[in-house]
Amino acid sequence: MLENDICAQAVELPAALLTFIEWNELADRLARAAAVEDEPVIYDKIPREVIVTRVKENGLKQWQQQWTSTGKGAVTKSFFSFVRNRLRQELPVSPELTSMLTGHGKLRSYFHRFGITDDPTCPCAEAKDQTTDHLIFRCKKLRKQRTEIIKKKNKNKNAGGDWPMTSEKLVNNYLNISVQFVNCIDFTEL
Ligand SMILES: [Zn+2]
Repeated sequence: MLENDICAQAVELPAALLTFIEWNELADRLARAAAVEDEPVIYDKIPREVIVTRVKENGLKQWQQQWTSTGKGAVTKSFFSFVRNRLRQELPVSPELTSMLTGHGKLRSYFHRFGITDDPTCPCAEAKDQTTDHLIFRCKKLRKQRTEIIKKKNKNKNAGGDWPMTSEKLVNNYLNISVQFVNCIDFTEL
């Protein structure tokens, strides 16, 4: 089925990096191909736009099912459990942001997991594994930067939310503030 083609191509791309524009281009390309292939059978009766919309929606549903059921990407899933929400976000991708959203690279827990270093713990006084969650919500070395994002968050009364909040809420409601926080982190000091 066409929706399977979309999902097969979509899931091969890093979920944290695929943009809404890229997703639309992929879905459009496959939907147009389907409209041409099926033309003798259904194109006379169903407008192309309807086919494109239906294919996109079904593809997104299948992608969501695969994303929900996969055991991979736990850190990314903690930020984006809904594919649709992720596609709406225009992330200013950088190595640092990608590391934080995926838990891969730059983090001691990641280096330890792949045998690159012996110690997964953060050099701060918490002595916990240096994970994305630790850096955002608990790391004592980032207390100053964290205070800043909480201040900025509190200025935005409309978005609401106590601190700490879920990673998902943080990125979905306060993307700019989250990105500023990540950009303030000097990973060479961690
Ligand atoms: Zn720490």
